[in-house]
Amino acid sequence: MNNPNIVILGAGYGGIMTAVKLQKSLGPNDANITLVNKHSYHYQTTWLHENAAGTLHHDRTRINIKDVVNTSQVNFVQDTVTSILPEEKKVVLENGELSYDYLVIGLGFEAATFGIPGLKENAFTINSINSARLIRQHIEYNFAKYNNEANPKEERLNIVVGGAGFTGIEFVGELANRIPELCKEYDIPREKVRIINVEAAPTALPGFDPELVEYAMNSLEARGVEFKIGAMIKEVTENKLVFEKDEQREEIATNTVVWAAGVRGNSLVEESGFEANRGRIPVEADLRSKQYSDVFIVGDCALIFNEETERPYPPTAQIAIQMAENTAENIAKLIKGDDHIEPFKPDLKGTVASLGHNDAIGVVFDDKKLFGWSATAMKKVIDNRYLLKLGGPSLLLKKGKLNFFK
Ligand code: FAD
Repeated sequence: MNNPNIVILGAGYGGIMTAVKLQKSLGPNDANITLVNKHSYHYQTTWLHENAAGTLHHDRTRINIKDVVNTSQVNFVQDTVTSILPEEKKVVLENGELSYDYLVIGLGFEAATFGIPGLKENAFTINSINSARLIRQHIEYNFAKYNNEANPKEERLNIVVGGAGFTGIEFVGELANRIPELCKEYDIPREKVRIINVEAAPTALPGFDPELVEYAMNSLEARGVEFKIGAMIKEVTENKLVFEKDEQREEIATNTVVWAAGVRGNSLVEESGFEANRGRIPVEADLRSKQYSDVFIVGDCALIFNEETERPYPPTAQIAIQMAENTAENIAKLIKGDDHIEPFKPDLKGTVASLGHNDAIGVVFDDKKLFGWSATAMKKVIDNRYLLKLGGPSLLLKKGKLNFFK
């Protein structure tokens, strides 16, 4: 009898962790494992805002897949998935086709732009190494260009970030550290540069503890970030952003709008016929698709509900990693003939948001609030723990954030 084929789509947190766990729990004669990803590398999405601001080089963020996946046990295919055919148990790639017995979808997230005119065409998003590198270079180009024009344009030095949720706040925190360096490098007075964070909700970091929100806003404002709270973005063009606040329309001259106010699951899942809510597939308790029992969903493409609040869990790396561990365990059981697979139970350890490399806020172990250095150190512990899980001590030493005082 042929070995069953396990195909894993995407090498984000969910996909790569599923592959790494399966390569440990299954032998080469148990199953054929294939991992498909667009790029030859895995990236830590949770560090991309640092790459986009230019405070961390993107090579620190990406990890060669072949450095963590054992290619004698996992067949790595670098290709782009174009569709999934669940009825035929097939996946179509740009350069071929794969058949599966078990499929794991970990294709991650994409920006949701809610139909705001001009946003999709004119705003940047932080969602990959390529997009983060583009933002960094675009900002640097504007600084370099500014003093080379007969009439220097204000729009080059106004950076607008849409959304003061987790990603938006973490990004403006990095910008607040980076801009003074850029001003020095390109001979631009700091007061000519604006970092403006526009948020539609009545508060920054909606859902976070109010004391922590106040701390975060004070820390960022002290470093020159301007907040426009309760402000709805109405339109983005090549050189301006229009928003409405207190029934007044206002414009900001800018050619740098970074949209960090909404994500959805990968649209490929809906295009492939999965019933989904903004790209997130509702799953059974064991993370299998409700429509196809041979398909598991991990990470931002999965929609799971918190029974206590009756609301969906927010998509996070923390949950994606735990889903991967659960799924790898369950697939290994199924392959070994054990049908008693485990439901997924998230074990949330807390949330920490950085405010630049030397400040952060967080809530851990249910209700312990962290500020400043202790939160920054906790963030590094979380990041380092992931690297250790994924690639052991050698990966931690190579890519880890080991300096707790910088
Ligand atoms: P992803 O990490 O998005 O990976 C998907 C993978 O699939 C990628 O490698 C991609 O290249 C690949 N792929 C996509 N489409 C295709 C295709 N068609 N063919 C082949 N390959 C494809 N969460 C936290 O828990 N803590 C944080 O501090 C935190 N900070 C964040 C900061 C930022 C700036 C951002 C953007 C997000 C942050 N998040 C954080 C959220 C977290 O990053 C996501 O929830 C997480 O990345 C989801 O993991 P995933 O495995 O579902 O997908």
